[in-house]
Amino acid sequence: MKIRAALGFNLIDYPGKIAAVAFVPGCDYLCPACHAKPILDEAALISGDEFLEYLAGARRWVNGVVVCGGEPTLQPGLIPFLTRLKAADLAVKLDTNGGSPEVLSRLLAEKLVDYTAMDVKGPRSLWAKVSGRPGAEAAMFDGMRIAARFPDYEFRTTAAPVVRGGEEISFFTASEMAETAKMIAEVTGGVQHKYYIQKFVPRKDGLLDPRLESFPETPPRLLEEMKKEVTGYLPKCEIRG
Ligand code: SF4
Repeated sequence: MKIRAALGFNLIDYPGKIAAVAFVPGCDYLCPACHAKPILDEAALISGDEFLEYLAGARRWVNGVVVCGGEPTLQPGLIPFLTRLKAADLAVKLDTNGGSPEVLSRLLAEKLVDYTAMDVKGPRSLWAKVSGRPGAEAAMFDGMRIAARFPDYEFRTTAAPVVRGGEEISFFTASEMAETAKMIAEVTGGVQHKYYIQKFVPRKDGLLDPRLESFPETPPRLLEEMKKEVTGYLPKCEIRG
């Protein structure tokens, strides 16, 4: 298992747990608003053993681990690593783009993940532009259906600027966010999912598409408009960030 960074224990990344965070490198998407990929591609590697040693020092009060990235489901060592975390009686949260449904199925069957947070990058009409993975929608739809079967889970979308073509870049509109929520409801056949609209926060230390670095945070009024429209499809919608 390759880990690029371990974040200090906190109460934010895993609701209800005191959790350590393991960032893994590598991702098959190319989201223009990604801030993780450029950082993780350069950070030094930590082995699964080193991460577990790091955890051991704080084991008395840490009760969870968040595995995020990058895209953890691409790591060949993920299943043995999670097996070790579960054997140590730690709750596991997985942050994923949902693009590897066969891995998610295995994690579900082997009860290796307690909480799945799946990023849904945007509506189908903008999928290629916001994910950088044209043609991956079918896998992502399967991923969504499986994510909704974990003991606890959420879907989330970052209200980021969208590169619409050429130099035209603008934030998701409220109706595009509603289109995303409608797609989640239709694909999963349910509406009772936790769904978070996440505020875009520009990182000056590098986004995959540097043109997005000059954008402000998602305006609060736009987030509220999004929530109002999304609630018509997914009533358990909240703004995060
Ligand atoms: S934001 Fe996109 S490119 Fe970055 S790690 Fe997540 S899925 Fe991959």
